[in-house]
Amino acid sequence: MNKVLNYINGQFVDPVNDNWLDNYSPADGDIYGHIPDSSKEDVAQAYLAAKEAFPAWSQTTLEARSRLLIKISELLEANLERFAEAESKDNGKPISLARSVDIPRAASNFRFFGNAITQFASESHESVGQHAMNFTLRQPIGVVGCISPWNLPLYLFTWKIAPAIAAGNCIVAKPSEVTPMTAFLLGDICTEAGLPKGVLNIVHGSGHTTGQAIIEHPGIKAISFTGGTTTGAHIAKTAAPMFKKLSLELGGKNPNIIFSDCDYDAMLETTVRSSFANQGQICLCGSRIFVEASIYDRFKTDFVEKVKQLKVGHPSAPDTDIGALVSKSHLEKVAGYIDIAGNEGGTLLCGGHKVTVDGYENGYYFEPTIIEIDSNDCRVNQEEIFGPIVTIMPFEGEKEALKMANAVKYGLSATIWTNNLKRAMSMSNQLQAGIIWINTWMLRDLRTPFGGVKASGVGREGGFEALRFFTQAKNVCIKY
Ligand code: NAD
Repeated sequence: MNKVLNYINGQFVDPVNDNWLDNYSPADGDIYGHIPDSSKEDVAQAYLAAKEAFPAWSQTTLEARSRLLIKISELLEANLERFAEAESKDNGKPISLARSVDIPRAASNFRFFGNAITQFASESHESVGQHAMNFTLRQPIGVVGCISPWNLPLYLFTWKIAPAIAAGNCIVAKPSEVTPMTAFLLGDICTEAGLPKGVLNIVHGSGHTTGQAIIEHPGIKAISFTGGTTTGAHIAKTAAPMFKKLSLELGGKNPNIIFSDCDYDAMLETTVRSSFANQGQICLCGSRIFVEASIYDRFKTDFVEKVKQLKVGHPSAPDTDIGALVSKSHLEKVAGYIDIAGNEGGTLLCGGHKVTVDGYENGYYFEPTIIEIDSNDCRVNQEEIFGPIVTIMPFEGEKEALKMANAVKYGLSATIWTNNLKRAMSMSNQLQAGIIWINTWMLRDLRTPFGGVKASGVGREGGFEALRFFTQAKNVCIKY
């Protein structure tokens, strides 16, 4: 049995109350480890370690911080295979994906912010005619909390930790209790890289115990959270009266809008990926596919044919396209939408069933599923399913596409397929989303602002936006 431990003040420690949670392997449904269900006391210890480390860390030169972050990045790259195996086992995602996306991106996060902090600058404002000069100090906040979800475990955990450390803060962090392994392994890498003790403290446990203790802690002055919209609303409600700085990256129900003048083959190939990558468990997946009526039948035939070729299998098999869903409860939730869609008049074009993989009968597998539906107002088109289920619907003209795309409570990302630049720009201006992709999907440049509007969150991560979030602006005015 694997045993995950908390990483506090540079040491691996048991939880104070000796409370443990089971950790399941999605590929076979077995319990393969235990993780702490950390209490307020553990969070308090992590906070004290962070508080103690803060004065020295916040005064560490930018060059030294940069060197350390890049060292962590290099160590992650050197341990890529070990981390990819751990991520795949813990989450159920194909190892090929963990190897090519999750772990390389986690390493990039450290490298990127290691470099970015050396380029981060603040403004100055000369008060012309008043003989005064203002300049802005960008100071670290102190102890900050980072809470991340299970879908891209190390990728999203480090997307918060790297800028927080780079900006001179100390951290109390909690990965998802469903996928704790790679965050646990990261502790060793940080120690080996020479990160001073207490700068990063990782406490494991469930949201309502450990997570709740982090958001309620009066000394933790900022919370960077990625996860579900309901949890985000609860965090906002709890943290707002304490005037904590908040960054909330939440759910999505993203439109993929396909016009007849697109580059068809590239669109088709990318749409398979944007629908089903990571079993559809990416907040950016395009789960509502709107297709211009003139190419709707062609698209429907080709898309169904391609999706039927995707292989559902054990995450470690090299030819697996679709691995296991993250948990039994999530599998049940996803499967439940098939009946919902049926009751709403949806037609199953392919998929729709749990899959039994030979030798792994208790694993959480589900077929990639396409549902044809004629209304955008139904639950399958309004609620975030966060699994391998997409809907397809025809539309006539930009206006109708725009109306349907915007008619959801979420606003994270949108994809447009067209070779008409005027249309692409006009749609980009009017789509209610924080991220728009034109003729591509999930092409990421880490300098760009990342986040959503409406129920998809507040605040932006990425590039200098993240460094701004993890610092306080202080204006200094000098009269001369
Ligand atoms: P979740 O909200 O259930 O959990 C996310 C994290 O919050 C976990 O670590 C959990 O333990 C913690 N948590 C739960 N209750 C808490 C509480 N009361 N106080 C503090 N922390 C608490 O989400 P999930 O199921 O892990 O992840 C899936 C969701 O994440 C989806 O909605 C998905 O769209 C969203 N997501 C968003 C983005 C983005 O960038 N916008 C990226 C990935 C995932």
